[in-house]
Amino acid sequence: MNIEQLPKIDLHCHLDGSLTKAVIERRLGRPVSEDMLTVSEECRSLTEYLEKFDLPLKCLQDAEGLEEGAYTFVQEIAKENMKYIEVRFAPMLSAHEHLSCGEVIEAVRKGMERAKEDFKVRYGIIVCAMRNHTVEQNMEMLACAKQYLGKGVCALDLAGDESAFPTKNFRKLFWEAKRIGMPFTIHSGETGNLENVREALELGARRIGHGIALKQDPELMKAYAEAGIGVEMCPTSNFQTKAVRTWEEYPLRQFVDAGIKVSINTDNRTVSSTTMTKELIKIYEQYGRDEELILALLCNAAETAFDPEIKELFKREKKEV
Ligand SMILES: [Zn+2]
Repeated sequence: MNIEQLPKIDLHCHLDGSLTKAVIERRLGRPVSEDMLTVSEECRSLTEYLEKFDLPLKCLQDAEGLEEGAYTFVQEIAKENMKYIEVRFAPMLSAHEHLSCGEVIEAVRKGMERAKEDFKVRYGIIVCAMRNHTVEQNMEMLACAKQYLGKGVCALDLAGDESAFPTKNFRKLFWEAKRIGMPFTIHSGETGNLENVREALELGARRIGHGIALKQDPELMKAYAEAGIGVEMCPTSNFQTKAVRTWEEYPLRQFVDAGIKVSINTDNRTVSSTTMTKELIKIYEQYGRDEELILALLCNAAETAFDPEIKELFKREKKEV
């Protein structure tokens, strides 16, 4: 199986954690070392993982940085036959006195749109609410993002420390998202919080990020399968953050066997030092070089994409492989 050549879809990829080293150096105006941007094998926790976002985030504080970041991001992913990308970022982490939330989203949209023309990669933007921000701040972001729904923005997400700020604190935000017709995915159960996985189902999430904790509850797994909720797994990242420590613990096969729509994603291309090709090869090698599994995972991604046209598009692409 030639995984390099496969048409690819990535549904869970953070813009800040995926800025290329070249762009970061250009924006900062100085060289930076690899270990300032990428976690090592010895990464101990999610906290250590999150420290690597400090420098890239500095590059996303003005419209030029945001647009260039988005454009060069697509330029990079196009090299591995990416057909569709759902890129996510938190607008409020770039907004400040001189840059409104709307200007932030507009700048990223502009970069993505220009790149779409040049590199033929379709895209959707997922705006991230932050767990450490107040509900009011997040509601403000949502109200702003609403204007771009269907015009670049495709969905809402909630990111940040799951244990310190549980999903139930953000019910109001997701009720509002539902009311205005903004679909959502939620980072849930990344490092063991089952309660957040339960809450995501109740709130009506179309997908969840990571979902490792879901393996603790077979009944809930069944409910996820029946509801057709997508689970965006990010293998390299899941090992680095110590969400799992061995492949025996990794619940991918369990989820697939339960009928859950699992997809494979990158999470953070630069921080995790990965690509979609690397992620898929990893799964291919770990799960008995099972070609059917790889194709099923890609189909799941197409089926759970927020852009409904992707399913058809992917069927056509797959036939050409
Ligand atoms: Zn993530």
